[in-house]
Amino acid sequence: ANVLALRFTQLPNALWHPQEAERVGLDPQLIHLNHAALPAVGLMAAADRTALTRLLAGHEASAQTDAPRSFATVYAGHQFGHFVPQLGDGRAITIAEGVGRDGPFELQLKGAGRTPFSRFGDGRAVLRSVIREYLASEHMAALGVPTTRALSIVASHEGVQRETLEPGAVMARFAPTHVRFGHFEYFHHRGETAHVKALADWVIGEFDTDLADSADPYGQFFDRVVERTAHLCAKWQAVGFAHGVLNTDNMSILGLTIDYGPYGFLDRYDPNFICNHSDHQGRYAFGRQPEIVFWNLRALAVALSSLVPVERLVQGLERFGPQFDEGWRAAYGPKFGMETAQPEDGPLLVDFLTGLRTLGADYPTSFQALTRWIEGEGELPPFDGAGEWGERWRERGLDPAQAAKVAERANPAITLRNWVAETAIRAVERDQDLVFFDRLFNALTAPFEELPEVLAPLAGPPPPELAGLAVSCSS
Ligand code: AMP
Ligand code: MG
Ligand code: MG
Repeated sequence: ANVLALRFTQLPNALWHPQEAERVGLDPQLIHLNHAALPAVGLMAAADRTALTRLLAGHEASAQTDAPRSFATVYAGHQFGHFVPQLGDGRAITIAEGVGRDGPFELQLKGAGRTPFSRFGDGRAVLRSVIREYLASEHMAALGVPTTRALSIVASHEGVQRETLEPGAVMARFAPTHVRFGHFEYFHHRGETAHVKALADWVIGEFDTDLADSADPYGQFFDRVVERTAHLCAKWQAVGFAHGVLNTDNMSILGLTIDYGPYGFLDRYDPNFICNHSDHQGRYAFGRQPEIVFWNLRALAVALSSLVPVERLVQGLERFGPQFDEGWRAAYGPKFGMETAQPEDGPLLVDFLTGLRTLGADYPTSFQALTRWIEGEGELPPFDGAGEWGERWRERGLDPAQAAKVAERANPAITLRNWVAETAIRAVERDQDLVFFDRLFNALTAPFEELPEVLAPLAGPPPPELAGLAVSCSS
């Protein structure tokens, strides 16, 4: 389709609020532009840089000529297990909807000012958190993980008050839609079931179009969300990504990774890894993500209970386990050189991970070592029983040359670890070295290519002075 069947702003007024961006900063500076992504949001690769900067800073009234223009949406959510009846786009404003090169898109500015849903927040974003979200979005996309995407970073040259006064920025991001579980929860908990239905009909009508004529559209829609969420979570585990704030308002209805805050990629392989400094209970620890994501799907089921009988929702939830297992094998198999890992391969894969865990081994470089070992060079990580494990891998009877190719495309040469993100932040904030930043961006978005010499040190675990960086929700 080259038009949206229905724009979000054609939905009932209760679902969105007209909202223009504030003009944050007098002299916005384009820190980075994701050129390759311009056509995905209907912009020309040759677009004028000054005009583009103004647009992406929120200084143009709107990217759309036909009213209504830009808007913010309201949602609710379970934050750390507790229901909060009203959240919403406190600092995200959609400035355009349309159909781009890859299909429907919604272009959002994050940090471009307050909205009616800002509560006590200032509607701003700090440069360091924008850099983190920007790099993570595009790195994850390049790793093959569904995600919201990033288009630009614009520095506002305006101070933003957090624990200290920090440089502010606006990020432009895009996705087919940014609708979250929390949107459904908001209307369900207000008893506004007609709006729950309007929202479900819209998502189905735009993105699950084959369900529109089904006898059980909402039940099947829920099945779909369960499936894509299970597959998403399986991919997170395989790339070693801990989201950090898996509240239901940070769960995309399309199964995209959304809201990069205090996320972390694994250094050592540790299921108890907690990347969010504010997560004292470890609710969102790396190894608990499947369980938490399932918890969130249950909250979504509740929010859809006016549309789907409970027994049917339970049926949908029961798909999670098998779908996650299938997704897990699909995501992990290639890291071991297996195009398609079978259920019988499970123990072999798990035993390697157990080995890494007992060793406290670095996750990304251990898989690089595995790739090289498959290629016939170097050793396996030296866990107890590694020799025997290697025999078991050989007995699997894979063609080594083919397996090596598969592993090379699955085990990245660079991962956006916290210390790599910190290095990027320092390059921009302290050194104004945008050339280095661009180089790093290029490496992170082509993570299976060989690293340029100057970036080679960034492949490894953190140097002592950058180990164990604490990242909080403050952003
Ligand atoms: P998060 O914990 O990042 O998922 O944010 C939870 C909610 O708080 C979201 O609805 C955000 O829109 C809102 N929020 C976060 N930071 C700010 C801010 N600085 N100003 C306004 N709203 C914010
Ligand atoms: Mg959020
Ligand atoms: Mg956030």
